Parts: sequence; C-alpha cells; structure tokens
Amino acid sequence: MCILDLIWINLSMLAAEYKAVNLGQGFPDFSPPQFITEAFCKAVSGGPPMHQYTRAFGHPALVQSLAKFFSRIVGHDIDPFEDILVTVGAYQALFCAFQALIDEGDEVIIVEPFFDCYQPMVVMAGGKAVYVPLRPKEGTAVLSSGDWVLSAEELASKITPHTKAIVINTPNNPLGKVYKREELQMIADLCIKHDLLCFSDEVYEWLTYDGAKHVKIASLPGMWERTVTIGSGGKTFSATGWKVGWAMGSGHILKYMKTIHQNSIYHCATAAQEAVAQGFEREHELFGTPQSYFQQLPAMLHHRREKLASSLKGVGLQPIMPEGGYFMITDISSIGESVDFKDSDTKDENYDFRFVKWLIKEKGLATIPVSAFYSPEHSKEFDKYIRFCFVKENSTLDAAEEILKKWS
Ligand code: PMP
Ligand code: GLN
Repeated sequence: MCILDLIWINLSMLAAEYKAVNLGQGFPDFSPPQFITEAFCKAVSGGPPMHQYTRAFGHPALVQSLAKFFSRIVGHDIDPFEDILVTVGAYQALFCAFQALIDEGDEVIIVEPFFDCYQPMVVMAGGKAVYVPLRPKEGTAVLSSGDWVLSAEELASKITPHTKAIVINTPNNPLGKVYKREELQMIADLCIKHDLLCFSDEVYEWLTYDGAKHVKIASLPGMWERTVTIGSGGKTFSATGWKVGWAMGSGHILKYMKTIHQNSIYHCATAAQEAVAQGFEREHELFGTPQSYFQQLPAMLHHRREKLASSLKGVGLQPIMPEGGYFMITDISSIGESVDFKDSDTKDENYDFRFVKWLIKEKGLATIPVSAFYSPEHSKEFDKYIRFCFVKENSTLDAAEEILKKWS
C-alpha cells in the first residue's frame, strides 16, 4: 500500500501546528454562494425539513436535477434513477467504481500525475495499477499545463489482456491540464478497441481558463456505455465539507457500484443533497449567463490564478499555468539549491517533501509536494515541483506573497 495517502493528514496537521498560510489542501477559504447556503438552511429548517433517510442511491430531487442538467451536456438522455449514484463526495464514487468494477488481477491504467487515492483504491480492490505519465513536451519552454502530453504509443503499449480500465482526471489535479477533444478521442479509441472501461474524474469541470474547454469523454461516440464520470458537489459549489458527489454512467455499469454503496454507506446526508439539487436547478435556469455560478467562479479564480502566478514570478519561480482546476505547480530547483533543510529526520524523503516541510516550519507557508501524485516508480523523477492552491481569498494570497518576498 502507498504511504503517500498520509499527505493530506500529515501536512494539514503540520500546517495547523505552525499556523502556516495555507495554499496546501484544495478547498476554498471563502464561503459558498449565498443561494446554496440558503438552500441548505431551508433544507434543515424549512418545510418539510430533511432530517431523515432518503433514497439510498440518491435523493430523488438531486438525481432528477443532475439528470436534467447533464443530459444537455452529454447529449444523451440520462435516467435519474438508473444512471446516477449519489455518493459521499467524489471520493466514495471513486471507491465504489474500483471496488465494484475491478477484480483480483485486473490491471488499471492510471495517467500520472494522478489524484493520490486512485492507487490505493485499485490495490484495495485486488487490482494492479499500471502507470503512464503525462510528459512535458521536449524542446520547448514548458509554460502551460497544455505542454504536458500523453503519448498514444506509450498508452497503447501498457494495454494487456488483463487491462480493465483507464483512469483520467480532467481538469487534472495537480497539473491543471484540460484534455483536448483529440486527446480524449485517442483514449476513447483505445477503450473501444480493447473493450475497456474509462473512469473519468471531472470534479473541476467548471473551472477552465483562457478559453480551454472541458469535454466529457462520455459524450464521445461509443463512450457513454463504458464510462463512469465522477463529479463533486463540494468542488462545484465551493462547499467541500458537504461531501456530496456522484457517479454517472450507463445503468448496466452503475448497478454494481450501487451494490457496494448500499452495503457500506447506504446514502449521504439528505439536507446536503437537497441543497445541491437546488443549486443545479438554479444553474440549469441560468446556464451560459453571467449570473451562473459556473461562469462566476472560474472568472474569479482566473484573477486569483494571475495573482499567484505573478507572486511566483516575482521571486523567480516559473509557474506552469494551469488551464483548469484549483492548482498551480512550479519547479523549485532554482530556489531549492540554497536551502539548508537542517531537519535530518527528512533526509530519506523525496526532495519536494523535504522542501514542503521546511517551507511550513521555517517560512510558515503550506504547499503540497507534487511527487505525491506519482507512483513510487516515478516519484523521484518528478520531485522538483510543488503545488500551490489558489482557490483562496485575496488576503490569503497576499499573505503568501509577503512570505515569498521576504525569503527571496
Ligand atoms: N478527485 C480529485 C481530482 C480531487 O482533487 C478530489 C479532492 N476534492 C476528489 C476527487 C475528491 O472530491 P470530494 O471532496 O468530492 O470527495
Ligand atoms: N482534492 C483536494 C486536494 O487535492 C483535497 C484533498 C483531500 O480532500 N484529501 O488538495
């Protein structure tokens, strides 16, 4: 089992202990929009209050609003009661997908860098994780997450008779890459040719910048039948603590995931589901208008992304500009050379882990080491990057900039 799953717990504790400015774990330090908090308050205190159990596979109001909303996006009639499973955050949707659909000895191809829980979840299901990295394009300056690409030949070379699924994450955490339609088509062609499932983690689907367009792989021809798309109400409405997520896909796949869900969790909190349902109803009405939160949040984050990038450039760090998501990574080799870690406890750890711990303890700034998003086989190759989260108040980003300035 991977030891890296401790990053969220250990680094968050360290950040709290040192009262660090926190650009580490990905959650907004501002409030969710008023319409969604009001919907939550109404769900617990209005009539009828939502204090009791609801339908196991998803509160009816929520599965109906998700089906209505996403049918338009996917270009396919989604059945609210067959094709959607509401889960305790996207985490549990991922867990159900791996537990239900991966058997002993199955191979699962994971594109690196990847959200760290995929690997332990594959192992817990008895499967074997097989990795294929996104690589920075050679011969050009790597300035954007779009400069990290997946080789079709390398991906195809990993497919064996035991391969069961390919896992992708777009927009990607930690890189911010938003897969282009052609890249998704290449993955889709391989899935269809080799009869594979695709698990597509799309929790940051509304957060794209500079004209990058999020495409759902499930919307490509022949993919609805073989894709499990994973979403997060927490990321969608800036309420990560509510832990409302979902899996969407053909009922003939989801029924296996429902069995895992009903025998482990049963269902997630009714009131939070009701509030997310109201949020999607509102967004359905306002879709594509400036009042839509799915326009307002990326517009706001676009500014925060620019602000963080300029703070990093100001101290000589070159950000890799994310096309989507909450995060920005930067190469710390230039600064790192001059750092005296002092702390001999960390000497066997990857360079970025040592650097991040030093940064929290000595400078009071929390970030995340990027090698945590790589397999043990590849993590050393990518241990010169750290990840900053920019879904933060301007004042938090200002405080981080002050720290960076003082130390440079
Ligand atoms: N997938 C990715 C790529 C993530 O970054 C996260 C973290 N939010 C999750 C899944 C889990 O989402 P949730 O908080 O809805 O469980
Ligand atoms: N997805 C968030 C991040 O990458 C939160 C991680 C978590 O909840 N464990 O920082």
